[in-house]
Amino acid sequence: MEKVIIVGAGLVGSLQAIYMAKKGFDVEVYERRPDMRKVDLVAGRSINLALSNRGWKAISEAGIQGEIEKIAIPMRGRMMHDENGNTTFQQYGKDDEAIYSVSRGLLNQKLMNCADTFSNVEFFFNHQCLDLSLTNNELTFLDTSTNEKKTVNDGKIFATDGAFSAIRKRLMKTDRFNYQQMYLEHGYKELTIPAVEGGGFKIDKNALHIWPRGEYMMIALANEDGSFTCTLFFPFEGKNSFESIKTKTDVEQFFTSVFPDAVALMPNLVEEYFENPTASLVTVRCSPWNYKDQIVMMGDSSHAIVPFYGQGMNSGFEDCTVFNQIFEANNMDWSKSFKEFSDTRKKDADAISNLALQNFIEMRDLVADESFLLRKKIEKKIYSKYPDKWVPLYSQVTFSHTPYSEALANGKRQEKIMDCIMAKSNIEEIWDSQEVEDEILEMI
Ligand SMILES: Cc1cc2nc3c(=O)[nH]c(=O)nc-3n(C[C@H](O)[C@H](O)[C@H](O)COP(=O)(O)OP(=O)(O)OC[C@H]3O[C@@H](n4cnc5c(N)ncnc54)[C@H](O)[C@@H]3O)c2cc1C
Repeated sequence: MEKVIIVGAGLVGSLQAIYMAKKGFDVEVYERRPDMRKVDLVAGRSINLALSNRGWKAISEAGIQGEIEKIAIPMRGRMMHDENGNTTFQQYGKDDEAIYSVSRGLLNQKLMNCADTFSNVEFFFNHQCLDLSLTNNELTFLDTSTNEKKTVNDGKIFATDGAFSAIRKRLMKTDRFNYQQMYLEHGYKELTIPAVEGGGFKIDKNALHIWPRGEYMMIALANEDGSFTCTLFFPFEGKNSFESIKTKTDVEQFFTSVFPDAVALMPNLVEEYFENPTASLVTVRCSPWNYKDQIVMMGDSSHAIVPFYGQGMNSGFEDCTVFNQIFEANNMDWSKSFKEFSDTRKKDADAISNLALQNFIEMRDLVADESFLLRKKIEKKIYSKYPDKWVPLYSQVTFSHTPYSEALANGKRQEKIMDCIMAKSNIEEIWDSQEVEDEILEMI
């Protein structure tokens, strides 16, 4: 059977390996790191991610939903923490809708285990892709365990080697390849709220916790062991920034003044703040995603986005579903499928990339804004009464399979309507009235 080569056994590469194995191809997966199933996860630290409907669909089509459900904790809404430690809960969608907290490391391991159950999948760990010759489609790897180089060819190549893709780097040297990368002025740092001694969660495990503070924010997602992984999204420079917080006292004073309720739950805050790395956030856009019928890029390698819509992995998983549909519709013709995937999927990746950047402002600032909350309340009412006419943008992105580009366009139309409604001088008093409802329906 024909060979398929997957470069990068991260989340998307491991899932794509299952999709290709199910089609009967001989799948070889090359991964730079050692086998993460054999190293201690805690020592390797692991962020957790929000898995939502697009990701679940891809997982379900791969036939492994049951396995992943075992490590997923539902989060039904946002729990907002204000500066005095008061909390308010905002439900994300309908009563049965949730996003799911999963450990990135455990999820990756599960995906690898599922791929390993196929006899036609072989993983090669400690294999770093160094280069690619486009003339003979030959990949060069460094086996970091022996320091020897090795070449691999004779297969269709899926580049799933992440935001700093070695394969994309090679494609950037080809004619008419477009590339753009943009770093945020904010970075992030992981911190921990440990489990209650003897087990249990210190705060509600079924919510995504947010401490929105305007220019910056902290979030927390539950882990299965009772702990929470907190992520501080913070400017690199400026008055309140990674640069300005230098000493133990700076950390204690700053956190106590802005996240008082969280500090009380974080006994290792100071050590973690100085020990854990500060990482940057990049957006990557490029095109085309394929090179002839030889190579196609998926996931972060072709469209890395900032994490504020919780869609990076979900969109990468959706790449697998979308590619699979296109591949089947084209009777497994590689040339047509690679091109069609690159041509049609890019607009959706661009849309979620823009939405993710916009959502940073919503999460760190607007979620605590009275007028924004009223806007959401009105939208929720219209959604519950007329679900076929109005689905809030968040729900379209998170709980539906509407292409991201359509969701973005629908969202812009809705925003215009809501701008008109919110401009009414007495909207606080009349928001629940028939008059407002009729006006929205007319504008739809
Ligand atoms: C702070 C943060 C929070 C996030 N939260 C969410 C969230 O809540 N929900 C969500 O959907 N997404 C989230 N994301 C995004 C998500 O992590 C990524 O979109 C996802 O990991 C992309 O998967 P991937 O397989 O394309 O890339 P990766 O997961 O980066 O995997 C790439 C793999 O390729 C390997 N590799 C790299 N270079 C080479 C090479 N030269 N040779 C061989 N192998 C190589 C790497 O070792 C790695 O295993 C978040 C991201 C960040 C940074």
